[in-house]
Amino acid sequence: MSQLDPAKDPPRYIKLHERDNVAIVVNDFGLPAGSTFANGLSLRAYVPQGHKTALVAIGEGEPIRRYGEIIGYARAAILPGDWVEESLIDMPGAPDLAAVEIATATPAPAPALEGYSFEGYRNRDGSVGTKNILAISTSVQCVKGTMEFAVKRIKAELLPKYPHVDDVVAITHAYGCGVAITAPDAVVPIRTLQNLATNPNFGGQVMVVGLGCEKLSADRLVPEGVDKAVMRMQDDDLEGFGAIVERIMSMAEARLAVLDQRRRETCPAADLVIGLQCGGSDAFSGVTANPAVGFATDLLVRAGATVMFSEVTEVRDAINLLTRRAATPEVGHELVREMEWYDAYLKRGGADRSANTTPGNKKGGLANIVEKSLGSIVKSGSGAISGVLAPGEKARQKGLLFAATPASDFICGTLQLASGITMQVFTTGRGTPYGLAAAPVIKVSTRSELARRWKDLIDFDAGRIATGEQTIEEAGWELFRLILDVASGRVQPWADRWGIHNDLTLFNPAPVT
Ligand code: CA
Repeated sequence: MSQLDPAKDPPRYIKLHERDNVAIVVNDFGLPAGSTFANGLSLRAYVPQGHKTALVAIGEGEPIRRYGEIIGYARAAILPGDWVEESLIDMPGAPDLAAVEIATATPAPAPALEGYSFEGYRNRDGSVGTKNILAISTSVQCVKGTMEFAVKRIKAELLPKYPHVDDVVAITHAYGCGVAITAPDAVVPIRTLQNLATNPNFGGQVMVVGLGCEKLSADRLVPEGVDKAVMRMQDDDLEGFGAIVERIMSMAEARLAVLDQRRRETCPAADLVIGLQCGGSDAFSGVTANPAVGFATDLLVRAGATVMFSEVTEVRDAINLLTRRAATPEVGHELVREMEWYDAYLKRGGADRSANTTPGNKKGGLANIVEKSLGSIVKSGSGAISGVLAPGEKARQKGLLFAATPASDFICGTLQLASGITMQVFTTGRGTPYGLAAAPVIKVSTRSELARRWKDLIDFDAGRIATGEQTIEEAGWELFRLILDVASGRVQPWADRWGIHNDLTLFNPAPVT
């Protein structure tokens, strides 16, 4: 595979926009110096796959353009065919939040897409789950070891008796005590736990295990008006660990019996709530996987579904392109409000947006956060942004929503679950085994090479767009149908087949005491 055969695999690059003066090399394992493209451009140096080469001469200080936008300025003169690597690029400043255009280019609604459905679990509140899971909430980290012990027994001894229940999940975390629970920012982890408890995949069977003396009391964890069962390990009538575990198991069994009555029923695609995120991005993310996801996003929104995109630090540098798409001026101002909040949060911690790009992103050809952001926002498709959620807030409307979260894969996943997603679509260039126990995750690779090497971890190969095997439109439709299949339980993503899942991880911007 590493032997280059120019006859079978001629040198190819992808230029995304007519204004671009750089393009990325498509061929697996990159191209050596001297490789000549069909248009006569010859490489002056080895260029790794996904990295940029200059299409024309770029003078020192002149803009470097990708996606038709400026991703930086040349630190030195660059010649056609040069490898435009990170050290040659000065990063531009982030868009000025006071100067962004608000709702100036709101897209008109696309025609409704009728006739698509999935087999889901409808809840009494009207929401629809894609799985049937018993979730056991916890109010404090102190009970985590006990919960692991109890869940192991529940899975071994009880779950086989209730074949219509998919899984038992303990919502464990590091919060609950030793934290400034009345600090203004404590609202984020608290509402996240409250909203997690009522995720549609959990069927409204809320159960909480607490310790008893913690700051975040077990009662406080469940939203008012929600039926719940609560037990505390310190309750006077519980003598010893055996009795504690028996109490947890009997409460669990009562809920398993209710959940076991649930059956899938045909629901319109409008009942889907899909989260989007990326992790381990590369230069192909914005060329293959994210455009395919963006096309599927447009289809889902046209079908009346809810789609959330997130990751503040990966939209901040392209926020000027998003505020224009706001459905109303209020939505545009809410986008700006979330960016301002995060700018201040990073500043308080002595960091800035440049902290986002990882060594793997850079190895994959992404020079900086500007280039990463331009590729990231493509996931949001082309429609109007109809709402904004602060971290961990529950979605109140359908359509395309921006759910403000950090870009951290685990924290973004946790916050989107709190906001009510019942499935996630996750794009990756470098590769990650990421999965969530609470909702199926479809992993989309940006490159075919990764999809082949990780054939039992990647669910969808968007690299076929770069090789010309598929158009963005074809890939978008295929992904849309896969989403309906996974939502219906007809197809299981690889992370679920292996049972590999990441921890839920709370976002706590408030002080720890
Ligand atoms: Ca991420």
